[in-house]
Amino acid sequence: MTLLDTFDRPLRSLRISVTDRCNLRCRYCMPAKSYNWLPAEDLLSFEEITKVVEASMALGVRKVRLSGGEPLLRKDLPRLVGMLSALGLEDLALTTNGFLLEDLAPALKRAGLHRLTVSLDTLREDRFEKLTSRKGPGPTLNGIRAARESGFEGIRLNSILMRGVNEDEALDLVRFAREEGVEIRFIEYMDVGGARQWVMDQVIPGAEVRAILEDEFGPLVPAETPDAAPARRWKMGDGSTVGTISSVTEPFCASCDRGRITADGTWFSCLYARRGMDLRGPLRVGDAIEPLLREAWASRDARGAEERAALGDEREVLHLPETLDADPHLEMHVRGG
Ligand code: SAM
Ligand code: SF4
Repeated sequence: MTLLDTFDRPLRSLRISVTDRCNLRCRYCMPAKSYNWLPAEDLLSFEEITKVVEASMALGVRKVRLSGGEPLLRKDLPRLVGMLSALGLEDLALTTNGFLLEDLAPALKRAGLHRLTVSLDTLREDRFEKLTSRKGPGPTLNGIRAARESGFEGIRLNSILMRGVNEDEALDLVRFAREEGVEIRFIEYMDVGGARQWVMDQVIPGAEVRAILEDEFGPLVPAETPDAAPARRWKMGDGSTVGTISSVTEPFCASCDRGRITADGTWFSCLYARRGMDLRGPLRVGDAIEPLLREAWASRDARGAEERAALGDEREVLHLPETLDADPHLEMHVRGG
């Protein structure tokens, strides 16, 4: 029988953060000067991660996405991909900033990774440095091309537009995506843990992005979107597609089928959840974790994004810096985005 939570949502997808480390410092994710990192000995081994995925599959998980921090910083990542791909998942994907992709794409493909999503918010060098504190976007662009040459199909681009920062690049990013043959999805700037400088005024609603695109490219026609996918997809006149993910202005909690696990084995049933469940302890003493996951999912009542939206004008930054510093598990880069 399908395992359902208290709002009748099945557990179908799992997002796994394989490291909290990152080689960029995106303003909307890791804007602080320093961070408290997870202790190395707390990171789940590949064998432990595989056990979590097996237990989740027994409860209904069909799709797994690896994330971080920057997942490509995790040593020997293709070995983990190989172990997970052997489990027969419907979908095994990875989200990356692409900086190390040029080197790693062939090994990831050989290991059995199905799909790649690359995050890229600007094509301008001066802006890239301001947004991420690293020189770019050359390495990311090279990474995208190397991924295509390695045989990855259906590569996606994730872009976050922020008002007064990069919203003037929406059209250039779409043109770039078309030229590269990848699908771009615009994600609203979210008030998640790491977004220490979040203000509603800087959020560009998906509807506004669509209006900008329609002005330039003509009408957007709704395209097919898988049931629980957060993105709504649209077809443009030339046949290419774009996606908008309106997590802030049009939350989709009702169809959320996603569990999350941090690199140190903490399970969260919502990106906004204040507390998680430790799986590392039970894993390391040899306890079965399937019953723990079953119970956690059966009692899940999370509707984090909807609750945030209900705050209306009262909506402010989610956590203060001192709260985040005291509990790194509240950070986006620890939860895997
Ligand atoms: N480092 C990888 C990357 O950037 O693709 C993977 C981890 S990152 C946390 C995963 C996704 O979360 C990225 O696409 C990133 O743009 C997104 N993200 C981070 N902070 C965000 C925020 N405040 N609002 C919306 N999306 C955010
Ligand atoms: Fe790093 Fe990804 Fe966060 Fe940017 S969004 S700081 S690349 S984890």
